[in-house]
Amino acid sequence: MSDQHFETLAIHAGQPADAQTGAVVTPIYQVSTYKQDGVGGLRGGYEYSRSANPTRTALEQNLAALEGGTRGLAFASGLAAEDCLLRTVLAPGDHVVIPDDAYGGTFRLFAKVVERWGVAWSVADTSDVQAVRAAVRPETRLIWVETPSNPLLGITDIAALAGVARQAGVRLVVDNTFASPYLQQPLSLGADVVVHSTTKYMGGHSDVVGGALVTSDAALGEELAYHQNAMGAVAGPFDAWLVMRGIKTLAVRMDRHSENASRVAHLLSAHPKVTQVYYPGLPEHPGHEVAAKQMKAFGGMVSFRVEGGEEAAVAVCDRAKLFTLGESLGGVESLIEHPGRMTHASVAGSALEVPADLVRLSVGIEAADDLLADLSQALA
Ligand code: PLP
Repeated sequence: MSDQHFETLAIHAGQPADAQTGAVVTPIYQVSTYKQDGVGGLRGGYEYSRSANPTRTALEQNLAALEGGTRGLAFASGLAAEDCLLRTVLAPGDHVVIPDDAYGGTFRLFAKVVERWGVAWSVADTSDVQAVRAAVRPETRLIWVETPSNPLLGITDIAALAGVARQAGVRLVVDNTFASPYLQQPLSLGADVVVHSTTKYMGGHSDVVGGALVTSDAALGEELAYHQNAMGAVAGPFDAWLVMRGIKTLAVRMDRHSENASRVAHLLSAHPKVTQVYYPGLPEHPGHEVAAKQMKAFGGMVSFRVEGGEEAAVAVCDRAKLFTLGESLGGVESLIEHPGRMTHASVAGSALEVPADLVRLSVGIEAADDLLADLSQALA
């Protein structure tokens, strides 16, 4: 592992100046195939861009460096990355423990896709170490965690669950999308694999969909790379380039996201129409101490519940002006959404169902005063 700091690695890891031209930014190698010097004579190892592409390689090396892993793999979306991981490490008859709060699409992948192939799952409150220990069965292969979780900003103690996983001989997977590696590095806390939707903070500008897996287990890294090529849901060169460009400013963006979100959370906490605020930076958040231990700052996501139920929550979303009503998160612009009807519609009726009066904010990097003014008018 490099001894350079995160901010330096974010800009340089995997991206030396182009050998041929000196270009300081890795070019977009928009190419599918490569000339061979005689049959099997590959220059630099490239033969076909599903297997490997130089722009994607640069991103993959960068991702590995930022997460403190040895192998990074870039995919067409976060769900493509998750699918590759699950089909690499699971077989019919296996069981996984999944969290009671997670992105709706992740739940849908387990409940509607993977289950059909004979993989069982059960839900546990992953903030409760004993509950996770109790949920592990002899056939369990994975414990899956999101921290902070989507949309309720639950916090899981990664090091404690890594201990549970090690003892049980199962792998711990951490979806690090909400934190980003700038705020939290699960591999250093004992996780086996980190998952990202790079669509979010890594890309950072709401202009690309992508996903990633990072591990420091060399054998698992090889198996994942084999399946990435065999299954084929790779990141294209332009998408890889966009994610790489976003990552260069990740550190400064995350600092600003965290500062703005903290101000938003405090405004909401004092608001008479708000009944509950979910933000791990608030001292009253049940996961505050664990978050303070394992995160550098508390991130840009804030959820809250409003007086008046579902219709009131939807009305707040509709009245917001600077906060754009839309799905996704992690971009420079602030977004607002109603998880029950939008990002988490697929968990309705399950153990992961979200409160109907919940509003989720992705707090951007605009001037905090403008964001506070917009929320105040939307709640008035
Ligand atoms: N993980 C989390 C925490 C997410 O919020 C999302 C998407 O919202 C995903 C994974 C899936 O990523 P993608 O939409 O890039 O497939």
